[in-house]
Amino acid sequence: MVHSNPILIVGAGIAGLTAARQLHDAGIPAVVCDKGRGPGGRMATRRIGEQRFDHGAQYFSAVSPRFREAVAGWVADGIAEEWFQMNRTPRYRGRNGMNAIAKHLAAGLDIRLSTRVVSAVPEGKHWRATTEDGGRISAAGLILTAPVPQSLEILGGLQEELPNALRAVAYAPCFAVMVLLDGPSGLAGPGFQRMKEGPVTWIADNTIKGISAGPGALTMHASPLFTRVNYDAPAAEVAKQMMMAARPWLGGSRITDWQVHRWRYSLVSSSGPEPCFFSPSPAPLVLAGDAFGGARIEGAFLSGCAAALALLESGIS
Ligand SMILES: Cc1cc2nc3c(=O)[nH]c(=O)nc-3n(C[C@H](O)[C@H](O)[C@H](O)COP(=O)(O)OP(=O)(O)OC[C@H]3O[C@@H](n4cnc5c(N)ncnc54)[C@H](O)[C@@H]3O)c2cc1C
Repeated sequence: MVHSNPILIVGAGIAGLTAARQLHDAGIPAVVCDKGRGPGGRMATRRIGEQRFDHGAQYFSAVSPRFREAVAGWVADGIAEEWFQMNRTPRYRGRNGMNAIAKHLAAGLDIRLSTRVVSAVPEGKHWRATTEDGGRISAAGLILTAPVPQSLEILGGLQEELPNALRAVAYAPCFAVMVLLDGPSGLAGPGFQRMKEGPVTWIADNTIKGISAGPGALTMHASPLFTRVNYDAPAAEVAKQMMMAARPWLGGSRITDWQVHRWRYSLVSSSGPEPCFFSPSPAPLVLAGDAFGGARIEGAFLSGCAAALALLESGIS
């Protein structure tokens, strides 16, 4: 089979990488572009000094047979491991942070990082995509896995021809504050605390979690309400309020450094059609990601599988 044009996949999160792997395994070349400096998307891990922080997704479960099989493979390969159990069901983490799983999936694929796709237009039965640096990519099919508002932006005027359900997809925003301590935190094993009230909803100790050397490396997540109200506030103000709320869990240790990350799109609050959106014309188009498969890492994985299958079943070559 001769492939003149690859499939273009926008987004090297779990959905995009899963789709790319499956196309690759089926002998269909795929190019993955991501605006970020590393793969993983919201499965994000960052360093401050010597310490490692998961500042996006914290853990995942595996319910469907397909995802369970994938997770079992990652565990066998030493990429993922159980962090804790809830209702006797394992919750997993990347062994060296959540982005370790994305790095594992990305191995051997054609991934173009720091490459933002700004537009994609159909050209006959193909796609012509333009990147921020003026690059052009011709593609036999297009899989968009960015948060849906960003995917629709790439499609420009063409989005008007797509179902309204896609424009109704919504996500909650979330501040992540990463805090370095000069001593251990006051959290007990397995190293996290959920809060029902106040600006902070989640606080996790990356040292107890097992991805950071310590002594204290905390990730805090803010409530959607606090994030919405303070979205444009200076980072120092956001950090101050969240650190005050988390004080009971600092174990008396001193904060020596901190960083704020603003997740404009974190958890899906209003989903799209499951398990992906597919349109064969004017040129093969798939929208996929967590908004289509169940609002979490497992859902994004399953949506990535469905995206690849939709193109394969459409007879693309
Ligand atoms: C704070 C937070 C906490 C979470 N906690 C959990 C949790 O504990 N458990 C869980 O299961 N899930 C959790 N999630 C959700 C989980 O992270 C997502 O469901 C999942 O990672 C989504 O994967 P995805 O591939 O669909 O999208 P993403 O990971 O968002 O990937 C999309 C990619 O598209 C790229 N992109 C966007 N626009 C462009 C463009 N124009 N050009 C090129 N690239 C582009 C982005 O850089 C990104 O890498 C959390 C998310 C956040 C933010």
